[in-house]
Amino acid sequence: MNGGMVEFSSSNSAQKEADMTSFQLKCPGCGAVNRIPAEKEGVAGVCGNCRAKLPPLYSTPRELHDADFDAFISAYPGPVLAEFWAPW
Ligand SMILES: [Zn+2]
Repeated sequence: MNGGMVEFSSSNSAQKEADMTSFQLKCPGCGAVNRIPAEKEGVAGVCGNCRAKLPPLYSTPRELHDADFDAFISAYPGPVLAEFWAPW
């Protein structure tokens, strides 16, 4: 035995991971689930079902401050994972 080392192959680039390139946003108006491409992150879209305006979504962490934290959280349509930190 060589210690049980496992090698993960990453050479198979033809295999696309669809879940990494888009995310889903439930329309606040009609409840329809809209698939949002990852590159549209932070861009306000339109519901494909009822044409209601969809708020911008973020799939990557954003740094918020006292001035914009409350406004962002209260306006955000999806679940928010907050990590609090301070530079001291
Ligand atoms: Zn809708």
